[in-house]
Amino acid sequence: MMDTKKPVKIAEAILESGKTVVLTGAGVSTESGIPDFRSPGGIWSKFDPGVMTSSMLYGNPVGFYKQAVAMLSFLKEIKSAKPNRAHYILAEMEKEGYLSCVITQNIDGLHIKAGSEKVYEVHGNLMGGYCMSCGEKTDFDLLVEKVRSGVIPPVCDSCGGILRPDVVLFGDELPECFMEATAEVEGCNLLLVIGSSLEVTPVSSLPAMAKRYIIINRGRTYYDRRAYTTWNEKAGNALEAIYKEIKNRMGNRL
Ligand code: NAD
Repeated sequence: MMDTKKPVKIAEAILESGKTVVLTGAGVSTESGIPDFRSPGGIWSKFDPGVMTSSMLYGNPVGFYKQAVAMLSFLKEIKSAKPNRAHYILAEMEKEGYLSCVITQNIDGLHIKAGSEKVYEVHGNLMGGYCMSCGEKTDFDLLVEKVRSGVIPPVCDSCGGILRPDVVLFGDELPECFMEATAEVEGCNLLLVIGSSLEVTPVSSLPAMAKRYIIINRGRTYYDRRAYTTWNEKAGNALEAIYKEIKNRMGNRL
């Protein structure tokens, strides 16, 4: 049975905030059929997280790509996933002025596919890759095809340097947009965290920078204790109920 008080409390917090920023994790995309990392049956039960590190890529690129081929093929499949109601509601709420932006750890591109306009993909995305020597950009699918066809490590057509995907690996620095995302959090009045275990740094440091934060997640997180409120509910159900409550309060003038 769904908690009927939570959507009221969260809708009120959004309406009074003036500036709400959303932070999403893998849990917002599980309803699109993409497994998260840490839940039972999640990605780490199929692949070895020890491989997806920048020290492995830079130190032993042949070993990295030999072991990453299955993971890369899996990631390529993710590109055909479709946004779910959680992504669509967040896009609607941004259009209607209730949310300022979405910061996402996800690399699946589903917020942009759903129509969210201001999206910070702080762990990169599955669109591209680049040469680690000359910086020339490449297409992610092309990189995966090279690896699948045995070109290990995949090399740049221009300079022969080694190619890498545009996703953040463990040990990588985060892209520049993380600084902008941090500024968004520092300047907001409410951070709404949806579907993240908040176990990955430095993203997990964002809630502490917000004046107030709320966590909607199916599992507990280390940050629950200091949250304004938490809701252990599926992202789609929760956002549908919150959005409905906002509409009711605004007298359907949306
Ligand atoms: P995580 O796997 O650590 O945590 C996901 C959380 O979402 C879990 O606590 C789980 O209980 C919860 N959850 C699962 N389904 C849910 C639902 N329907 N509604 C609400 N909560 C739900 O993921 P994370 O915190 O995002 O970990 C960070 C890393 O995972 C990031 O680096 C990200 O790049 C990567 N990742 C991305 C994708 C993707 O792009 N879709 C998928 C898997 C992992």
